[in-house]
Amino acid sequence: MPEWEKNIRKVDPYVPGEQPQVSDVIKLNTNENPYPPSPAVIKALEEMKIEESYRKYPDPTAKSLKNTLAGYYGVDRDRIFIGSGSDDVLAIGFLTFFNSDQPVLFPDVTYSFYPVWAKVYGIPYEEIPLDEGFVINTDDYERGNCGGVVIANPNAPTGVAMDAKKVEKIIAANRDVIVVVDEAYADYSGVSVLPLIDKYDNLVVVRTFSKSRAMAGARIGFAIAGKRLIKAMEDVAQSINSYPISSTSLAAAVASVGDDKYFRDRIEDVIRTRARTVLELKRRGFSVLPSGTNFVFVTHAVKSAVDISDELRLRNIYVRHFSLPRIDNYLRITIGTDNQMNDLFAAIDEII
Ligand code: PMP
Repeated sequence: MPEWEKNIRKVDPYVPGEQPQVSDVIKLNTNENPYPPSPAVIKALEEMKIEESYRKYPDPTAKSLKNTLAGYYGVDRDRIFIGSGSDDVLAIGFLTFFNSDQPVLFPDVTYSFYPVWAKVYGIPYEEIPLDEGFVINTDDYERGNCGGVVIANPNAPTGVAMDAKKVEKIIAANRDVIVVVDEAYADYSGVSVLPLIDKYDNLVVVRTFSKSRAMAGARIGFAIAGKRLIKAMEDVAQSINSYPISSTSLAAAVASVGDDKYFRDRIEDVIRTRARTVLELKRRGFSVLPSGTNFVFVTHAVKSAVDISDELRLRNIYVRHFSLPRIDNYLRITIGTDNQMNDLFAAIDEII
């Protein structure tokens, strides 16, 4: 072993869903939106003066997007942090807020990036088991003595949403530490703790443009919190990378927020297809967890999740399987268009 080996930081990284570089697959494995971004986004990109905007660095303060989001959510601009996808926002959040010897708490089944950030930043953490129905018991988070709390609501990969009152219980029981609520999928559940940000100075709400705004490729996420927390995040972020958001992504994001009707209509489309998907999968022998997201988390009464996933893949349909404790016989299936889901149901009929 070379001498330098001992100085190298070794981590087990988060493994993102596959991005096959071919077009003839039905991709239901990474919770992307099956619809394109708003036509306003396409127009804004076409109208951009790329020669100028790419020659220069982008605005390090992302002022245009902060102003737009401030207007949309009715908060001051300095209560918004913008990052390169919510993964970036969450990573900066972990680094900024979890600087204690006490463990940060999150569920045992949740977004599997949380333990990865905790490990790479050397943050102690404790995974609190969800109950048998994959539901959080809020009492578990009222014990004091922790370094912070992270809750995805709706949760991933289960899709289960908790009502805002229960999330508030957790926030209220942890006033001395920061509670991060990851609302990546909240546009599909209609449940948010954003209205609580004036009431709790320990609350950070994280959102993304990747799912409901169909802009996963643009990499835009944001946090809304009190001014002091946002300032702390900005200071850490600006100590790592001064220009995290490209000029094209900023312009595209501003345009997306400007087209609210398109945004809401596409959310309704996905929710409608989700309801149909639940019925069709149940009819085929699946148990389906209640979903407040753009995916369903399912397990089959007879056939194993891995086998179903493998056989779907042979038919060019990709779904997500996690080889993790408690959930290795489940599949997470993103809601696609009605036609894509019809192909999925037909493939399942062949397999089962
Ligand atoms: N939070 C949750 C719960 C997610 O499922 C995802 C998607 N992998 C993210 C955050 C990150 O999404 P993005 O970085 O694209 O905003």
